Amino acid sequence: MSEAQFLTGLSAVRCDVDLSPLTTFGVHAVARFFARAQDDETLVSLYEAARRDNVPVLVLGGGSNILFTRDFDGLVVSIASRGVEVVDENDDYRFVRVAAGEDWSAFVDDCLQKGWCGLENLSLVPGTVGGAAVQNIGAYGVEFAERVSEVECLDSVTLQKVRLTAQECDYGYRTSVFKTDKRHLVVTAVTLALPKVFRPVAGYKEMQAYFADRTPADARELAEAVKAIRRRKLPDPKEIGSAGSFFKNPVVSRIKMVSLLEETPQIVTYPMAGGRAKLAAGWLIEAVGMKGKRVGDAAVYERQALVLVNYGSATGAQIKALADEVVFKVKRRFGVELEPEPVII
Ligand SMILES: Cc1cc2nc3c(=O)[nH]c(=O)nc-3n(C[C@H](O)[C@H](O)[C@H](O)COP(=O)(O)OP(=O)(O)OC[C@H]3O[C@@H](n4cnc5c(N)ncnc54)[C@H](O)[C@@H]3O)c2cc1C
Repeated sequence: MSEAQFLTGLSAVRCDVDLSPLTTFGVHAVARFFARAQDDETLVSLYEAARRDNVPVLVLGGGSNILFTRDFDGLVVSIASRGVEVVDENDDYRFVRVAAGEDWSAFVDDCLQKGWCGLENLSLVPGTVGGAAVQNIGAYGVEFAERVSEVECLDSVTLQKVRLTAQECDYGYRTSVFKTDKRHLVVTAVTLALPKVFRPVAGYKEMQAYFADRTPADARELAEAVKAIRRRKLPDPKEIGSAGSFFKNPVVSRIKMVSLLEETPQIVTYPMAGGRAKLAAGWLIEAVGMKGKRVGDAAVYERQALVLVNYGSATGAQIKALADEVVFKVKRRFGVELEPEPVII
């Protein structure tokens, strides 16, 4: 198939597009074809054309949770739909429908401006609304899953629209059905249930230190605290390439936790239901001496060991190699397998 054939009737498709400005890691990778889908109809026609010509499709949101280690020999579709509307309300909640292509952080700021609360803890998380629904973003004690009421999708196989309740999304720690059984679903919009009464979630150690003995007065004040804490810890993607936390905090059995604590009493653990425990991956990485390790422009961030960064011209393969070294050393020392958080292509 020639590119001209693929482009027939789809003038919005561009060829050989450099994806580095479209991802927060900023590594060089080329998409053979690239198009923006501003609406569901465009999305359907792109899938139809890709199927006709046997071209694989990769959906891209804000590119803040993806690492390209190679070029993509297919069609990258950037979800670019826009729109925010209140679709319903009752005494307790305001139901807000948001298009998947909206920028999450800008949307949260917009809600705060309007005096709507519920998303303040998730301030400044990069990426799109669709990406947030796929990843079940979480920060400072609140997860996306706690605020979502419904997710609208396009089934990329049948090209039919489908709606999932929050329960059907099967949300877990940084995961959802969109990353497991239903990868063929493209999120097109979400409806959030935003509580009308502000109930601060400010139990995190850094948040308690920020507010001392006070309770935040409103959602905006809590959001300011979240932003200040995040800016201290995390690299600004406009200045240093990253995908935020590169590793998930590993979950271990009670038996494993007990044996780890016997060997290394200072290990940082967070108890979970059912006797299991979450380990602080950043602590494990620091303990094996990888914090601040730099190979060319790929590095383990010196302020936060959980974050891998691109200081300029690192390749995706170099970042992946550094991640593999971290995984290997943590496994060798603690017998715990770290799992990457971003999607690796
Ligand atoms: C500095 C920094 C800080 C971060 N902090 C946090 C944090 O505090 N908490 C947190 O949870 N995450 C954090 N992240 C990670 C990231 O912001 C989230 O995972 C975000 O939700 C990713 O959204 P995206 O639109 O950028 O997804 P992308 O990176 O574009 O895509 C990620 C994956 O989702 C798929 N995808 C994207 N959109 C759709 C869609 N509409 N339908 C179906 N599949 C889709 C893609 O195909 C890909 O597989 C951080 C990242 C950075 C760079």
